Amino acid sequence: MSSLKIGIVGAGIGGLTAAIALHRAGHDVVVFEQSKQFLRVGADINLTPNAVRALDGLGIGDAVRHTAARPTHRISRTWDTGDETSRLEMGDSAEQKYGAPQLTIHRADLLAALAAVFPAERVLFAKRAEEVKQDADGITLTFTDGSTYLVDALIGADGIHSAVRTAMFGRENPRFTGVVAFRAVIPAERVAQVPNIQAFTKWWGPNLQSQIVTFPLNRGKDIFIFATTAQESWHLESWTTQGSVQELRDSYAGFHPDARALLDACDEVLKTALYERDPLPHWSHDRMVLLGDACHPMMPFMAQGAGMSIEDAVVLAREIAGITQVADMDTAFQRYESLRLERASKIQIGSRGNNWLREGGNADWVYGYDAWTVKAESAAPD
Ligand code: FAD
Repeated sequence: MSSLKIGIVGAGIGGLTAAIALHRAGHDVVVFEQSKQFLRVGADINLTPNAVRALDGLGIGDAVRHTAARPTHRISRTWDTGDETSRLEMGDSAEQKYGAPQLTIHRADLLAALAAVFPAERVLFAKRAEEVKQDADGITLTFTDGSTYLVDALIGADGIHSAVRTAMFGRENPRFTGVVAFRAVIPAERVAQVPNIQAFTKWWGPNLQSQIVTFPLNRGKDIFIFATTAQESWHLESWTTQGSVQELRDSYAGFHPDARALLDACDEVLKTALYERDPLPHWSHDRMVLLGDACHPMMPFMAQGAGMSIEDAVVLAREIAGITQVADMDTAFQRYESLRLERASKIQIGSRGNNWLREGGNADWVYGYDAWTVKAESAAPD
């Protein structure tokens, strides 16, 4: 097969997943990443069975399982009474039902597992894409260091502020949601008295924006805490900015003692504003296509941001695996879009609504999806 040169902007979770799958399909893939190296930034990534299945198909499931934790259940509790309003078995039960468990992993460990199976020399660091132009020769990328690169087709996997998206559809800034998020990691032994501490537990607050989510990380040795609250005054979007532990505790002062015990155990916390966008009507244009947060950044309330970027990457790679002519790229991108856009947009809107599994409900349409085999008619059931 004659290979096409495919450029991917962004060596995040979606970009690397697509790079691995396309490289294996025989394409000449090069990834451009703005960071100087893979950084140990962020903390949690929640991989529900749909995402783990996709990673298993890529052959990196074992590496992921090596450092991840396996939440035992997915539990909803009411913020003040502590009453349980829903409970799903995860772990072995999910594995039997969906062919994969839920895994929760540090973002850096997931990136390391992905990077380990892609040729290191094909990831070009310190390459921040600034301009993208298409002509008869192909697509020319211009980076902020002044260098350029010519590819046959381009995948924009460059996150919520995607430069590729701007080149395709014009500038439109993400919207501040009025919600801020706190992130903290604590040793599990500090909170061993909290019931179901190895479960994924969501404490539903007194309003839509207010919640505390906890789940295990690092094979259960640590507990990750993710708490959101409405706050119009804080607009800074950052994975590294320190917040105030006192502010965290004060924000959830009325919560049940089990939830407060988790916050009391925090030594430090990160704080970020949450941004999102509306669903896009199209993800591709000619020989350029988007995946992951570049096309559908979403609120974290269904914990599907990483999962959707992984699913996108697998389906996109399937659709362009056998393409040998640039002229056929456009149609392959449209097939990808028709398989993925409805499901991802539905989850994007559902995440905004924030009522996923609050009081039971069937998780099968999200968790039971298999990106390796999905056909158009089962992409997003009602
Ligand atoms: P992203 O993960 O955002 O990846 C986009 C990649 O593109 C990044 O590596 C970015 O540096 C690169 N990039 C952006 N613009 C350019 C450009 N112009 N040129 C070249 N490269 C570019 N989610 C969580 O749930 N928990 C976390 O702790 C967490 N930490 C994160 C830390 C960082 C540093 C980032 C970038 C994202 C983090 N996320 C986290 C978000 C989460 O990873 C994504 O929402 C999700 O996985 C979707 O992945 P993606 O590959 O589509 O986008």
